[in-house]
Amino acid sequence: MHTPPRPDVADMELPELEHALEALGHPRFHARQIFQWVYRRGITDFALMSDLGRELRAELAGAFTIGTPDVVRSERSEDGTAKFLLRLADGKQIESVFIPDTPSMTFCVSTQVGCAMKCGFCLTGKMGIDRNLTPGEIAGQVRVLARELGMLDARFNIVLMGMGEPLHNYDATMKALRILADEHGFAMSSRRITLSTVGVLPALERLATEPFMPNLAISLHATTEDQRDMLVPINRKYGLKELLDACRRFPLKRRERITFEYVLLRDVNDTPEDARRLVRLLNGIKGKVNLLPLNEAAGIPFERPSDDRVNRFARILSDHGMTVSVRKSRGRDIRAACGQLITESTRKAPGARLALLMER
Ligand code: SAH
Repeated sequence: MHTPPRPDVADMELPELEHALEALGHPRFHARQIFQWVYRRGITDFALMSDLGRELRAELAGAFTIGTPDVVRSERSEDGTAKFLLRLADGKQIESVFIPDTPSMTFCVSTQVGCAMKCGFCLTGKMGIDRNLTPGEIAGQVRVLARELGMLDARFNIVLMGMGEPLHNYDATMKALRILADEHGFAMSSRRITLSTVGVLPALERLATEPFMPNLAISLHATTEDQRDMLVPINRKYGLKELLDACRRFPLKRRERITFEYVLLRDVNDTPEDARRLVRLLNGIKGKVNLLPLNEAAGIPFERPSDDRVNRFARILSDHGMTVSVRKSRGRDIRAACGQLITESTRKAPGARLALLMER
């Protein structure tokens, strides 16, 4: 006999779960209890939800699933960074990273299996896109990391800087954020969440209208249209100028600023002229710059500039009154650093897959 798939609690916002319970003839307040079990205590087995009646628990177990990624492997870096390889219900794999003491605790979460953006210096981009993650798979990474790290009660930040382009999976990403914000679950404040994007313009314009507004980070990486066309191919569709205009219009509360990420590639975008152009481009935008000296990898046709060059670039920005930080690369020994997240694609031919693995 064919049974339809059971609805997944992990994909539901609280009001949806309330309605689903009501439809089964149960009071809606049980939804809050379930949220507390799932998000605050990391329990995904209805049988263990001891403040629900025994019969109700059995009925819920038959009516719903609570999809949760499996941990295939976790690795700890010398610097405390931990990388988790997670397996989703359909067998696809993604990576999530824990970065301690920045000084906050940070969970770096993926939004897609692979990525379609093909930025020239990013290994994830080389994988191509396999599929979007569901809201439950995005929020589920936070659940799994918090549980595995014993941090269900701890304070942490979330950065959408793992695999994938969050604004290329807009609805699922925003729904995941609303789930994470629910006061009966993780109760994440929007100020503790940062969404990083290459700037998919229509989606960025939409983000500007959201009631729940995460911090915004823009992966800029270049100071001319030609340079950005080459490094961040989506620039050919949504150019640098339009992107910065959208940033100028982006609603910011008092003291909020947009972070501009800028990967430094030796002799490509790391010259003093680039730094001065960057100053001019960002003029009039409430922003700060985060410099990311390239994390080198085999298969990436660029080099990391020397520390001297990085410092010289940073100096020019700060001399012009800009707030600038240099991202300390974390977890490089376990390939957990920016742009290094990559998993085997089940779609690729065995030969291509092998090539990807060898590049790691
Ligand atoms: N797609 C989103 C989310 C990924 S965030 C975005 O691009 O913003 C990951 C950040 O790491 C991005 O700023 C990305 O450009 C940067 N990155 C990618 N590859 C890198 C590398 N090899 N070294 C340093 N930073 C890199």
